[in-house]
Amino acid sequence: MAYESSLAASLIPYTAGEQPGDGSKWIKLNTNENPYPPSPEVAKALAGKEESLRLYPDMDATALRRAASRVFSVSPEQVFCGNGSDEVLAFAFAGFFAGKDVYTPEIGYSFYPVYADLFGVHLRRVPMHPDFTVDTEGLMQGGPIVLANPNAPTSLGLGMGEIRKLAAHAKDAGEILLVDEAYADFAEENALSLLKEFPNLLIVRTFSKGYSLAGMRIGFALGHEDLIRTLKKVRDSFNSYPLDRLAQAAGEAAMLDTAYHARTTADIIAAREETRRRLTEAGVEVLPSQTNFLFVRADARDASRVQRALREEKILVRHFSSPSLAPYLRVSIGTMEEMQTVADALIRAIQREA
Ligand code: PMP
Repeated sequence: MAYESSLAASLIPYTAGEQPGDGSKWIKLNTNENPYPPSPEVAKALAGKEESLRLYPDMDATALRRAASRVFSVSPEQVFCGNGSDEVLAFAFAGFFAGKDVYTPEIGYSFYPVYADLFGVHLRRVPMHPDFTVDTEGLMQGGPIVLANPNAPTSLGLGMGEIRKLAAHAKDAGEILLVDEAYADFAEENALSLLKEFPNLLIVRTFSKGYSLAGMRIGFALGHEDLIRTLKKVRDSFNSYPLDRLAQAAGEAAMLDTAYHARTTADIIAAREETRRRLTEAGVEVLPSQTNFLFVRADARDASRVQRALREEKILVRHFSSPSLAPYLRVSIGTMEEMQTVADALIRAIQREA
């Protein structure tokens, strides 16, 4: 394009999952959204906010950060909030990784290579073990490390013993370990307890999955005050008000309704385990999941035909075309009822297309 800068010309943007706009009834399991509405406290918190919208929001999202500090037992100065965890990750790439060699598992969140190109980061993608587990030794090469844990799209979780080793290695090297915990709400373990020990550990979380607020775009980071200061510096060089007033109020209400969060999360985990059991019983290989999705081997080579067959039945799931991922489908977890329909449709489609 004639008017494009050389930077724009060089970009290969992230491709998000399809968001159907035709209003017909889909079982939408292609972007790892939550099947339940947000906490009823969210609607209460948003009511009557219109008048205040003429004023800029609190740039530091003070109330939301205070809520996070209570829920996660950290100080408010250890919390940074941004417009979705994607933005928090972007700020982290700019603030900690620009110009460096950064180590990441070859299979991970596909936004990392995009941010790397945007911010001049040399992303060193370390091959996985054949069973899709992370080669932690391979990540320890003396540079900063970034990984999603639990990982996407594999759904596998890395134990805290391994995360601790990575954090210690990065600390000795004077670099940070960024753990993207977008799916931690659905996992048995998370890195929160390591924060006290590792001033170089940055944990990134989201409201899009566990808190049913993908439409509000709220993400946050937890880490040492110095790391948070760097994120603020990058933010204030880009957009001082990344979170609007409605998002801040919604996030605070959702986060403080811990009972609702616990209940909906438990329901999703139950539906996940039941779906995995049914698929496995039918002879379908499914990786053990620590997330709100399943990574399902739907074909020997390329599962896109199975994806299309499900689409015919108004079920949307995600397929990645790179050779190692092509046999698989990533299926987000819906309600127990939806997942019964989906498990039946998947088993039928896999058997038909095999
Ligand atoms: N990290 C991972 C691993 C994800 O899968 C996603 C969601 N696609 C995100 C971060 C971004 O989530 P959000 O921007 O909605 O907070």
